[in-house]
Amino acid sequence: MSTTLHEPAAPFAEPMELLRGMLEERYAVDTDRLTRMTVHAALPQQFGRDMRTLAVQTAYLRQGIAETAHALRRMSEGTYGRCVDCDKAIPLGRLRAAPQATRCVPCRRRKPYGAFTAAARPVR
Ligand SMILES: [Zn+2]
Repeated sequence: MSTTLHEPAAPFAEPMELLRGMLEERYAVDTDRLTRMTVHAALPQQFGRDMRTLAVQTAYLRQGIAETAHALRRMSEGTYGRCVDCDKAIPLGRLRAAPQATRCVPCRRRKPYGAFTAAARPVR
């Protein structure tokens, strides 16, 4: 009787693929929403939204898309999952809740606004 030993995958490989899938899906959904919102903004009736609301919503979406793209770039560069401030590993639970996170919780608390400070939105 022989026993086949399966090499376990790298401990972080599977969650990383899951996170990559989450980020890619978010990127696609937000890009689609931004496209539709941009089309709506150009229509005379703007689907019941005023221009200011549309401007805030599109700015919010653009920021989210930028954060998602940044996270995907960090994945390809191999720096994803490490805090940009202290260089410690960001816990998997935090990445699952906010896959675009660039900081661990203690560093985020010290610096609530990150690289994208133009809009009044805390970095998750
Ligand atoms: Zn940190």
